[in-house]
Amino acid sequence: MFAKNGADLLEICAKNHWSLADFAINYEIENNKLSREDVIENMRKVLDVMKESVTVGVEKEVICLSGLTGGNAYKVGKYLEKGNTLCGDTIVKAIARAMSCSELNATMGKIVACPTAGSCGILPAVITTVGEKLNLSDEEMIKGLLVSSAVGMIIGQNATFAGAEGGCQAECGAASAMASAATVFLMGGTNEMCLHAAAIVIKNILGLVCDPVAGIVEVPCVKRNFAGAVSALSTADLVMAGVISYIPFDDVVEAMYKVGKTLPESLRETALGGLAVTKTGLEFKEKVFGK
Ligand code: SF4
Repeated sequence: MFAKNGADLLEICAKNHWSLADFAINYEIENNKLSREDVIENMRKVLDVMKESVTVGVEKEVICLSGLTGGNAYKVGKYLEKGNTLCGDTIVKAIARAMSCSELNATMGKIVACPTAGSCGILPAVITTVGEKLNLSDEEMIKGLLVSSAVGMIIGQNATFAGAEGGCQAECGAASAMASAATVFLMGGTNEMCLHAAAIVIKNILGLVCDPVAGIVEVPCVKRNFAGAVSALSTADLVMAGVISYIPFDDVVEAMYKVGKTLPESLRETALGGLAVTKTGLEFKEKVFGK
């Protein structure tokens, strides 16, 4: 079984009366010779790591090895406790959690690369926060993760996840699209709606460059993770309200890949452009690596 793109994925699902989660399970059964129970159990392990990684940085200050970032997830968690946020508990909790995972990644802690380490905060923050908000069981959250993997698979096949190849739009864009599709599914949306959410999220991050300061995945990466989580959640609400993407998911993925290919090398994880070569970015690089 193989879905070459989003349209194909929707057709296969319609023919078999499957959700995108069912597709992902059957894909694993058929192509990787796993039992249904194995697929669920593997994803349960993934969910367990996600649950841990979203809390570590919120409960105590995580200071990153370079000294460049850290402690921000903790700050946001404390701010949330005061109960006076503008955006509300769900959004602010997701912000803290996304930053927790990213800060943990910068300390070489255990995270789920979903789809990459640089974008590791988005999906865990979204899936755990949506799980709490909607009072979902682990089994339901696991189905959400399976939806995200079906969407990620299509992006990976037709474009790239790598900042070095496609910029941050590919890395954080893919993670946010996966998270938004999973959220729409968990809110009761159709397969088509999941792909509308994925398309809208990528459209809104199209062209974002990869410019890590000193070549370290911390600045701007940690904050791009919180932004991706917020985009995934707000887009899910947009789609559940009935808004669709005028440009279909497959076209958006193709555009994202083409835009990535046209980005200059300096803006594809080389730390030779963007924020990495600002006065402050260069000063920091010198502090860490010397002249
Ligand atoms: S800026 Fe580059 S390294 Fe950082 S999260 Fe985005 S793609 Fe990854």
